[in-house]
Amino acid sequence: MDDAAARRGWNESLAVAMVQLKQGGLYRERRLVDTPPGRLVVFDGRECLSFCSNDYLGLANHPDVVQAFRRGAERWGVGSGASHLISGHSVAHHALELELAEFVGRDRALLFSTGYMANLGVVTALCGRADTVLEDRLNHASLLDAALLSRARLQRYVHGDAADLECRLSRMEGGRALAVSDGLFSMDGDLAPLPQLAAVTRQHGAWLMVDDAHGIGVLGMAGRGTLEHFNLDQQRVPVLMGTLGKAFGVFGAFVAGSELLIDSLIQRARSYIYTTALPPAVAEAARTSLRLIREQSWRREHLLALVQRFRRGAAQLDLPLMISGTPVQPLRVGSSEQAIRLSQALLERNILIGAIRPPTVPAGSARLRITLSAAHSESDVDRLLAVLGEVM
Ligand SMILES: *Cc1c(COP(=O)(O)O)cnc(C)c1O
Repeated sequence: MDDAAARRGWNESLAVAMVQLKQGGLYRERRLVDTPPGRLVVFDGRECLSFCSNDYLGLANHPDVVQAFRRGAERWGVGSGASHLISGHSVAHHALELELAEFVGRDRALLFSTGYMANLGVVTALCGRADTVLEDRLNHASLLDAALLSRARLQRYVHGDAADLECRLSRMEGGRALAVSDGLFSMDGDLAPLPQLAAVTRQHGAWLMVDDAHGIGVLGMAGRGTLEHFNLDQQRVPVLMGTLGKAFGVFGAFVAGSELLIDSLIQRARSYIYTTALPPAVAEAARTSLRLIREQSWRREHLLALVQRFRRGAAQLDLPLMISGTPVQPLRVGSSEQAIRLSQALLERNILIGAIRPPTVPAGSARLRITLSAAHSESDVDRLLAVLGEVM
């Protein structure tokens, strides 16, 4: 805070900051949702076709997942009662960890309460002052926070640029290095060049960590995520983080890797140790969700067909598409005010799309972030295109 702000005192300086946010089109407001996640939601009292959830496979309100949750609550109660290391690690949590490890083809998996906490836990457990964390410039905020909290040296390399990462690794003098990247970038929809990142890190004796919050369940023939898409194993990418709140439609997260990695996290990841375990019923819901992800590959196939349909239609309309073959299909707008204006115009036509503004994305790159879901139909996509054609 600058001197002038300090002189103004708390109330005045906070109020000034709010006014500045409003003037810059950066003020954020919460609107009320009155329905479960799905293609149709009641938002601000208005029934809308929604294109802004991360429920990519339409599992968040799936009857089998809901039933597993209900039965889980009957079997286990609501709260887990303690952290994992005290007495909160139930048979349900353990079963989910085993199933997740098998699903992603790794020795072991460890549950965390959220993806944010998983990222904080991994980076702070692995890295300290003597180490270097190298991150893609567009990595998720939780990964940047994790590096800052670890007190390691933080370097940010050019987005998707393995050559820049290589250059930075080769200039390092001593200490261990952890390179960290999103698998599927959540605000752009593009994939990290993971085979190149894996090769470069291996060559320099560094580790690569991939946050696959948006890829897990969605990408790869079997839904194992971005690493399956690129055919990368635990040797080449030692640390994998996945979340259970997006394609899984539930809540929570996991880290998967070698015995030694997971054992180290259990001993040292503070966001694992010092927090209450997820409710076991949540673990039961996630187990059912994982079963559906494995059994119902039609969800992924349908979703990818919708992505192609959207891109074909949007190209015909000359909409400002970004380079993405994934369910995240942003339209580049530029100014925050324009993004808000478009999002509002869409809402008036009962289409719900989020306006994504700085600091979530770099200054001057505000966008409409459209996400498609297996819950959508082809005619939903056609309706979206028709309305976009009107307002943009
Ligand atoms: C959503 C997200 C997270 C955080 O996961 P939560 O379980 O919601 O805390 C972490 N990384 C990325 C890339 C994400 O998109």
